[in-house]
Amino acid sequence: MKILAVNAGSSSLKFQMYEMPEETVLISGTFERIGIGGSFYTIKINGEKTKKEKEFKSHSEAVATLIDELISNKVIASLDEIKGVGHRLVHGGEKYAQSVIINDDVIKTVDELSELAPLHNPANLIGVRAFMEKVPNALEVGCFDTAFHQTMDEKEYLYPVPYEWYTKYGVRKYGFHGMSHNYIASRMKEILGGDYRIISCHIGNGASLCAIKDGKSIDTSMGFTPNAGLMMGSRSGDIDATLIPFIMNKTGESLDEVINDLNKKSGYLGVSGISSDSRDIEAAIEEGNEKAILAQKMYVERIVNYIAEYYLEMNGADAIVFTAGVGENSISTRKAIIDSLSSLNIFLDDERNNVRGKEQLISSDNSSVKVYVIPTDEEVMIARDTYNFINE
Ligand code: ADP
Repeated sequence: MKILAVNAGSSSLKFQMYEMPEETVLISGTFERIGIGGSFYTIKINGEKTKKEKEFKSHSEAVATLIDELISNKVIASLDEIKGVGHRLVHGGEKYAQSVIINDDVIKTVDELSELAPLHNPANLIGVRAFMEKVPNALEVGCFDTAFHQTMDEKEYLYPVPYEWYTKYGVRKYGFHGMSHNYIASRMKEILGGDYRIISCHIGNGASLCAIKDGKSIDTSMGFTPNAGLMMGSRSGDIDATLIPFIMNKTGESLDEVINDLNKKSGYLGVSGISSDSRDIEAAIEEGNEKAILAQKMYVERIVNYIAEYYLEMNGADAIVFTAGVGENSISTRKAIIDSLSSLNIFLDDERNNVRGKEQLISSDNSSVKVYVIPTDEEVMIARDTYNFINE
């Protein structure tokens, strides 16, 4: 059965087509700069990537070209072969603790939740509507970034602020990267042969940690928005909220400008003044750049603090997992983190840690907690949920 997993942004559209239940990726691709001029797309099939330039005024036009590509590459013979389209939807609020079959009510609710994710939910829905129009017979399924974290206890998800902020306005910790953390939970269940206590470290451009017990999220570091928790590539993570009016006063910046500073000019980039990309930070550290060294120390310390918090919250841990761009690839960042955990008898095996983008146990045999690198796969989670709905 052929299933599409889709991630639509305001000017982009990424897709992977799966043969299910085998979970084989048949074709994948990305459309970029939709509706803003200079658009192009890349298609990957049988390990071969091709880039084509073509003007797309809308996501529907991109989906039409996507279908043409599926047919001309003989991935499908007709549209009816696409049985399901699973969409990544960023914010499901408290309404969705699981993936859902998309109907008019769901679209309306996701639209209403746009107030919590103004950059993402409306863009995700543009993708949904484009596929509904072009592939009308497929089952459309929505998979939320927030859903996995709906199992958190209220003592974890509430902020110590006036309670009516929660009841009236929905102010609480929602958490993100749910599909990635859920993938780590399910893959670790396969590896360890049961449900254990996992600290999942999704460290990419955006970064969040998740404490997983019995396959469920019990705490996570992102909050009301994805700018909470860890220091990230260009996001500050947790700060004292009163910095905001103070800086507005000092610089004359507007509220939006300061929020933009916290999202786009902070983190690795803000501290180092070099880059938001950990590869650039690593290169600068090699050259002895002091700001880069400081940025890396701060970055690592925040991750270590959250690991320690979740270790205590779960009364120990059975595995720590590194995933996403930095987690899968940065040997030195993983080493700095795990070397800071020696008082918990958690130890790295440097030879095992010499790995990028590949599943591997990287802790030493005498480590009290197993440490793994597991490449994340959010798309396969979308494909699985979509397939399961069709199969039911
Ligand atoms: P996103 O949050 O955008 O999905 P990714 O998970 O793809 O991000 O992570 C992207 C980040 O991963 C890059 O910005 C970079 O910091 C880091 N990264 C990618 N490859 C490497 C590498 N080989 N070494 C160190 N860091 C890497």
